[in-house]
Amino acid sequence: MDFKIKSTTQEKLNSINQFLHQEVYPIENLFLHHQWQELFPALEKLREKVKKLGLWAPHMPTSTGGTFTSLVDLALIGEVLGQSPLGHFIFGCQAPDAGNAELLHMFGTDEQKAHWLTPLVAGNIRSCFAMTEPHTAGSNPTLLDSTADLKNGMWHINGRKWFTTAAEGADFTIAMVVTDKNAAKHQRASMIIVPTNTKGFEIIRNISVMGAEGKGYFSHAEVQFNNCIVPEKNIIGKTGSGFALAQERLGPGRIQHCMRWLGIGERSINISKKFLNQRKISSTQVLAQQPLMQAQISDSLAELAAARLLVLQTAWSIEQHGFQASKNMVSLIKFHTANVVQRVVDRSLQSLGGLGMTDDTVLSFFYREERAARIYDGADEVHRIVAAKNFLKK
Ligand SMILES: Cc1cc2nc3c(=O)[nH]c(=O)nc-3n(C[C@H](O)[C@H](O)[C@H](O)COP(=O)(O)OP(=O)(O)OC[C@H]3O[C@@H](n4cnc5c(N)ncnc54)[C@H](O)[C@@H]3O)c2cc1C
Repeated sequence: MDFKIKSTTQEKLNSINQFLHQEVYPIENLFLHHQWQELFPALEKLREKVKKLGLWAPHMPTSTGGTFTSLVDLALIGEVLGQSPLGHFIFGCQAPDAGNAELLHMFGTDEQKAHWLTPLVAGNIRSCFAMTEPHTAGSNPTLLDSTADLKNGMWHINGRKWFTTAAEGADFTIAMVVTDKNAAKHQRASMIIVPTNTKGFEIIRNISVMGAEGKGYFSHAEVQFNNCIVPEKNIIGKTGSGFALAQERLGPGRIQHCMRWLGIGERSINISKKFLNQRKISSTQVLAQQPLMQAQISDSLAELAAARLLVLQTAWSIEQHGFQASKNMVSLIKFHTANVVQRVVDRSLQSLGGLGMTDDTVLSFFYREERAARIYDGADEVHRIVAAKNFLKK
């Protein structure tokens, strides 16, 4: 196996890293202290700079306006960007827009691409993805009960969704809804584009998550579809293909999530390193000289390195053999990396003492926000069951 990173990719990674240090870390305080009015214009300025540098939308092919080269390269870029909670947004590859763009690119009609995909990749509009419902188990989407009924060439959509990330300010949502309740359970649902200015689309609230409601792109909403009427042509793919599309959407997306989490782990351990080397615990010693702290650092380094290799190998496997053949590896990295990063962030936070609990560093944000990594895109238990079942039946 060749572990070498191409020189062109390495140059790109260096440029992105430099950009983060010079331009992004200095504005993180605005984000950590919810100074939205100053933050949003600052983000827009940085997005323009990224476009001029030719680093915009690394997840999308050049034909759509992006700068994609390979899944492994994208994984490496995602790792660097993950070091800041603002990284993916500033480089135009943030969830859920990234997954929605990939979906439209693969399965959208020409008209859908022209109307929604092109401005989405350009960063001129935003989107969200409405699948999870408050009253049905998101872990088993065959239980979904929001509906779309086709009448005279128009879909009539009804239902309640929640955890619709980035709904506030989004221009459209992709809604996963039941289009034929009598069909086989994996053919009941479809994905339909619903512009958010459709009559009957309502944001009920931004949900407070671990103490914060967020704003705009950085929020998770509960939304209601009150007889939203959209044209039949707004369906993505065939009627009943929602589950198949969801698999396609979430597969490569999990590589990007995992690499982003590894970036978070690496930033966390580096914040810890700086503190441990400076913090005096006696007249002659700093914390970095304490064996207990050293052991924690070693554990984190080993766990991050092992998870990183597994994620990169999975990206490589998807590229070589396709998603279906790599599905089990995707399940393994999803729950494994999420857990590694929780431990690394927790140890790093602990090493900073009281400072770790404050919002003076990004660690407490990572600690709160990334707890969700073990839940979204398939909870730990679901991926563990899938991976074990596949292994046992072969
Ligand atoms: C921050 C955040 C952002 C999100 N963004 C989006 C979004 O943009 N769009 C969207 O549609 N959804 C989104 N979600 C929702 C997310 O995908 C769901 O929360 C997830 O799929 C779990 O579904 P649930 O919450 O209904 O939990 P449930 O399915 O009710 O499960 C509850 C718990 O039970 C356990 N469990 C579940 N199934 C099994 C099983 N078979 N065996 C053993 N244990 C099991 C798990 O521990 C699970 O956490 C987001 C969630 C969070 C937290």
